[in-house]
Amino acid sequence: MSDSILQHDVRHVWHPYTQHHQAPSPIPIARANGSWLFDTTGRPILDAISSWWVTTHGHCHPSIVSAIAAQAATLDQVIFAGFTHEPAAALAAALVERLPAGLSRIFYSDDGSTAVEVAIKLSLQSFANDGRPRRLIAALENAYHGDTFGAMAAGARGVFTHMYEPLLFDVARLPDPSEGDTLTALDALIASRGHELAAVIVEPLVLGASGMRVWDEAVLQGIRTRTAAAGVHLIADEVMTGFGRTGPMFACGRAGVSPDLLCMSKGLTGGVLPLGATAATETIFDAFRSDDRRKTFFHGHSYTANPIACAAALASLALFTDECDQARARITETHRQQLASLQGTAGVRAVRQIGTVAAVELDAPAGYLSDIGRELAAFSLQEGVLLRPLGNVAYCLPPYCTSNAELDRVYDVIARFLEGARAAPIGSGGPVDD
Ligand SMILES: *Cc1c(COP(=O)(O)O)cnc(C)c1O
Repeated sequence: MSDSILQHDVRHVWHPYTQHHQAPSPIPIARANGSWLFDTTGRPILDAISSWWVTTHGHCHPSIVSAIAAQAATLDQVIFAGFTHEPAAALAAALVERLPAGLSRIFYSDDGSTAVEVAIKLSLQSFANDGRPRRLIAALENAYHGDTFGAMAAGARGVFTHMYEPLLFDVARLPDPSEGDTLTALDALIASRGHELAAVIVEPLVLGASGMRVWDEAVLQGIRTRTAAAGVHLIADEVMTGFGRTGPMFACGRAGVSPDLLCMSKGLTGGVLPLGATAATETIFDAFRSDDRRKTFFHGHSYTANPIACAAALASLALFTDECDQARARITETHRQQLASLQGTAGVRAVRQIGTVAAVELDAPAGYLSDIGRELAAFSLQEGVLLRPLGNVAYCLPPYCTSNAELDRVYDVIARFLEGARAAPIGSGGPVDD
């Protein structure tokens, strides 16, 4: 079976973030369960990164699977302009109940990037609709918000974006709060260009893609106070941090902060189906209500609020029980202990953690194209653990069903790598980055 998969794949498939000239053949995966992926030969691989930060309760969770099956047999898809349905309405209500106070409207889209595009467009248009246009967006250094054009513009400029640089709109750049003085820069920006500034967009409390850079709750609170005073929107991109990753349901909740717009995707459906959602305040929603039809939000996607994806999300939300809270607390504590013993080890520059997200910065040249991460990825894969370091930063972001024994395995692989173990050569390239 894997032969024909690879034959077709090599001939016809174009993979994300993949240099096809160098990349080894992808690994054909046949099935998954809990924290484990199984390749077509039956070999288990521990999914220590939740398959790109999406899987929350574990792969193929039976209650999500059956909710999907039941919904698919009942209502598969319907146009969402002029129509609605139970899964979308119930999900909006369930999300609002769990979101930070003040967020009362849910706009559905397809993924994290589109959830960010929607947030930026809602902010800009709400000012325009109110007859006092503001066109400036501020974003953090080292930010990542997705790969569509608006999301790229808000994200840090680097190897991902340099090709498109001249086509990206300008944003005001604020220092990365994990290393710089964001609040002083924000004060200066508001003093000089506050009347132009529509929104500040942040990845709350942890800049994910740039290496799990954890930052302070007090800074998020400071950004909220300052933006609120200046009438500037705060957009929280919780695409990675949402749904319990940092401990509480949302990172903003951890800091007691209510943004004006909040982006969700990844863990929204338990990581099973693609779905994006942008939550907005009633004030922003009201800026679009008008007899003037030009004030409409002219944005939508073919699969907006797909019923099957919404049903998966509802089933996933129902799994955030006390038991799930305890599992996240257990993972948080295990990370803490494991990182404490790694800290100060040869080869470790720094360790970082927020909730269920743990990161180990390796002592090697930094940057996305750093080789050490590729070597660790190759070694861990050989040992049956899926890691995908961001440059020289290895991280563990596991599904919440991951046991302590499974976590020990992840840390054991990292420890052995640090002691000098390496993978057998597998040809040029090695597993790719991101
Ligand atoms: C992954 C991610 C995105 C993009 O989401 P996609 O579903 O890949 O488009 C946006 N923002 C953050 C913070 C992310 O981690």
